[in-house]
Amino acid sequence: MKFHYLIVGAGLAGCTLAERLANESDRKVLLVEKRDHIGGHCTDRYNDDGILVQIYGPHIFHTRIQTVWEYLNRFTSFNSYVHRVLSAVREGLNVYFPLNLETMEKITGKSFSPESLNAYFEEKRVKIDEKDIKNSRDVVISQVGEELYELFIKNYSKKQWGLYPEELDPQVLRRIPVRYNRDTRYFDDPWQGIPSHGYFRIFENMVKHKNIHILLQTDYKDIISQVTFDKLIYTGPIDYFFDYVYGRLPYRTMVFNFQTLDMEYFQEAAVVNYPNFNNYTRITEFKHFYLQQHPRTTICYEYSTGEGEPYYPIPTSESRIIYEKYKAQAAKLKNTYFVGRLAEYRYINMDQAVNSALELFHKLHSLS
Ligand SMILES: Cc1cc2nc3c(=O)[nH]c(=O)nc-3n(C[C@H](O)[C@H](O)[C@H](O)COP(=O)(O)OP(=O)(O)OC[C@H]3O[C@@H](n4cnc5c(N)ncnc54)[C@H](O)[C@@H]3O)c2cc1C
Repeated sequence: MKFHYLIVGAGLAGCTLAERLANESDRKVLLVEKRDHIGGHCTDRYNDDGILVQIYGPHIFHTRIQTVWEYLNRFTSFNSYVHRVLSAVREGLNVYFPLNLETMEKITGKSFSPESLNAYFEEKRVKIDEKDIKNSRDVVISQVGEELYELFIKNYSKKQWGLYPEELDPQVLRRIPVRYNRDTRYFDDPWQGIPSHGYFRIFENMVKHKNIHILLQTDYKDIISQVTFDKLIYTGPIDYFFDYVYGRLPYRTMVFNFQTLDMEYFQEAAVVNYPNFNNYTRITEFKHFYLQQHPRTTICYEYSTGEGEPYYPIPTSESRIIYEKYKAQAAKLKNTYFVGRLAEYRYINMDQAVNSALELFHKLHSLS
């Protein structure tokens, strides 16, 4: 069978492109996925206890991009979940992150107005000239000072990246968001929520089309020579595409330990971070996301490690140099397009993955 497009990877980027090309451009698409399911990194499923869980870590949809919001609403509605993250900064002290008036009052025992909080940071922050900021520690202490750095950032960074902030480039830990009000939400984007029937259902609805053929549990390299197609869209790791000729791009990976407990709820929020004690980085309790009624609950302990499936690209100057070499090779290829978090080697949120895919679609559609 001849296809107009071979798309590698059935995550958000791959499924968005498959859907658009089939529905809007009437193209025949072969979607090849090495895992045994569609949906890539943000899929979810019911576990053996009947509780809906996200198998690759907590995913909360949020966006400022109206076209992305409208596009996804063709395939799902979203529930009213609003993400709030607790940080267990000390034994017995859980506070909302990002920093806001309420959090600062809990930590310091003082009351704050927006003006007095600003004055507090002004007094605490370490004065470092922009040009002298050498690492991620400098970024944070020059914004909020040493105490908050120690409480929220230092040990969390070590758990998450295996490195302390002074070992990380300035761009790895961006500026800490600070709110001079009592808004305890994690995201302030106008559109946010969790798909009412879960993420997997979105993907099912997207790829249900006679022009889309799906091959699961298949590495594209095993079939590419047997398939006839005009164009290739690649959403897998860019270094794998080029057989690692310039070396491997480094990633942090996550390990998840799921447990179902005989209680209705385990914790106050969907996600509780553990910056300073315990060896896990956070605990997620999925029922909060889906507003699911169930007498039991599933939680997930999350650990960060250096080896395994690619999760977070490690943005260092060394990895940037390697990536640029692959990118230059990719640019020389005809009728081959690289899109998504692995192909572009950058952390992107779900809305950015959809947005990049829609942009690529418009380009391809205008060519056809
Ligand atoms: C722990 C974690 C939490 C996150 N939380 C959020 C969040 O709360 N909100 C948010 O907006 N974003 C979140 N994200 C980001 C989100 O996961 C990504 O934006 C999204 O998954 C990107 O989609 P993608 O299609 O680019 O990549 P993927 O979903 O990874 O899809 C790529 C697909 O390609 C397949 N593939 C790779 N190689 C091959 C091959 N050789 N042959 C065939 N198939 C192949 C893979 O199996 C995969 O299914 C989070 C990311 C992580 C790591």
